[in-house]
Amino acid sequence: MNFKDLKLIAPILRALENQNYTEPTPIQAQAIPPVLAGRDVVGCAQTGTGKTAAFAIPILQKLNETSVPKQLQHIRALILTPTRELALQIHESFEAYGTYLKLRCCVIFGGVSQKPQEEKLKRGVDILVATPGRLNDLISQGIINLKEIEIFVLDEADRMLDMGFIHDVKRVIAQTPRKKQNLLFSATMPPEITDIVQALLVDPVKVAV
Ligand code: AMP
Repeated sequence: MNFKDLKLIAPILRALENQNYTEPTPIQAQAIPPVLAGRDVVGCAQTGTGKTAAFAIPILQKLNETSVPKQLQHIRALILTPTRELALQIHESFEAYGTYLKLRCCVIFGGVSQKPQEEKLKRGVDILVATPGRLNDLISQGIINLKEIEIFVLDEADRMLDMGFIHDVKRVIAQTPRKKQNLLFSATMPPEITDIVQALLVDPVKVAV
């Protein structure tokens, strides 16, 4: 199996070549086709398995398929992740795999000044990578609106729970439209996460590595 078999477009294949990725990891081989097909996906996978690319690559390809007129631009994909380090890594991955596409990615997290993040957001963003606290702050201030997101990723769901962020996560989910594609990744599936899967995902494809 190689990335071409996954029906990826040339600009993404070229970016993956730059990364020296020769073949998809098992989670990528399993998750990329259903995500491209628009299905909800629940993935049981830890960091280190290549799970970031498993969602980032098909999200970039899907968003690239349709463009939104400038006056109607809004945040189209949201990736919610528990820590600043993960948020930065995910953002870097989107930038790397999307080098040859025209999609704009922005990362926000707490513990730093809000101003530069705010300014980047004002210039227009297609893909937002965020930690839950800062995201809720910016939503409360009316700086971020998630009403038109098309794809939502909840990354490291079990860690969100361990870190006490589950309430913040639910607040974010309540701000998103019901009709959207949902992807949830978690290394373990405690009951609180299974509840979210059942409430949020529609007929999800289950992938595990
Ligand atoms: P992740 O599990 O998303 O944190 O990814 C772990 C590491 O694997 C990252 O450093 C990626 O750059 C790398 N990686 C992801 N997919 C591939 C691939 N198909 N081939 C080689 N390395 C990869």
